[in-house]
Amino acid sequence: MARHTITLIPGDGVGPEVSAAARRVIDATGVDIDWEVHDAGLGVMEQYGDPLPAHVLESIRRNKVAIKGPLTTPIGKGIRSVNVALRRELDLFALIRPCKSYPGVRSRYQDVDLVVIRENTEDLYAGIEFAEGDPATLELIADIERLGGRKIRPDSGISIKPASIFGTQRVFRFGFQWAIDNARHKVTAVHKANIMKYTEGLWLRVAEEVSREFPQIEFDDRIVDNMAMQLVQNPQLYDVMVMPNLFGDILSDLCAGLTGGLGLAPGANIGDEVAVFEATHGSAPKYAGQNKANPMAMMLSGMLMLRHIGEGDAGDRLEQAIARVIAEGRNVTYDMKPDRDDPTAVGTSQVADAVVEALGTTG
Ligand code: NAD
Repeated sequence: MARHTITLIPGDGVGPEVSAAARRVIDATGVDIDWEVHDAGLGVMEQYGDPLPAHVLESIRRNKVAIKGPLTTPIGKGIRSVNVALRRELDLFALIRPCKSYPGVRSRYQDVDLVVIRENTEDLYAGIEFAEGDPATLELIADIERLGGRKIRPDSGISIKPASIFGTQRVFRFGFQWAIDNARHKVTAVHKANIMKYTEGLWLRVAEEVSREFPQIEFDDRIVDNMAMQLVQNPQLYDVMVMPNLFGDILSDLCAGLTGGLGLAPGANIGDEVAVFEATHGSAPKYAGQNKANPMAMMLSGMLMLRHIGEGDAGDRLEQAIARVIAEGRNVTYDMKPDRDDPTAVGTSQVADAVVEALGTTG
């Protein structure tokens, strides 16, 4: 059996607890993993002077696969977000967020099986920002007017939205290939091409071009506002949706809401060389150290990781085991109970016990 070396960043807040739970159930699949555990974030700032020390990045680059718990990003303290830095440094250009209904989850919808693939490097989230009142901003405003753009009020802040042919081709090629590899049938390009002709228009044009390279996959497109409504009215009509950064951020949370919320939403950040798996949720600091957080989003991120490293059978067994625990409804955390104060809710580690036990009976 192949042996895998994988970087594990436990994270902070509820991160260490959900990471420990995920590690236990991944190990219980029988896949042979050598874990290289490294801390990152605020906790290592003092020791290394950087929340994302070089040796952590080196470990991920060397192993090509990492799984990480959530990391707190303090607001307005000038500390760079490790999550953003990781995506940038490793050029993790696609973020996959599957949203699937598992029987037994309290939700308004059944039979939802959607995948959001979000472009992760461009768009309004590229981080090209000009602060209101800065001399550079005033210069930019003057230049835009001089170059024939519209007049911009001098007291404006400005965020730039780049959309390149390279970035768009790369994420759509990835999306179509992912659809093929995962036996999906349709890719929908989400956009606002009717209004932003030179960025969103380019996105749609390139999407159409790339779709012709993959005739075996059905292709269509939706304007983002219509997409939001359609997802609420008819989520069953959609399959894989490829979105620019901002729309992907918003609509992937909407999709998570259709299928049971943050406690069940996994994610995978993918680049050409490296992949980093992580839950959609953050560090939920108010529950830190309380054995309360739902570890299933992190476990399902582990399922995506197992499939990514060629251990699809183990990934499938892990998913079945999690699905069984959800369906039984006994060993689930507070967020999956009808009433949030339900005294029968169990803790993070008890969910891991139940999934390990269920794994013993799958396969
Ligand atoms: P959050 O996801 O941490 O929490 C939002 C709410 O969702 C919480 O009140 C909690 O009740 C609930 N929740 C989240 N995860 C849960 C789980 N596993 N089980 C049960 N309930 C859960 O979002 P936030 O409060 O906006 O952010 C907290 C911190 O996390 C911030 O510093 C933020 O920057 C960071 N963050 C990190 C990541 C990441 O590491 N990828 C992602 C998002 C937010």
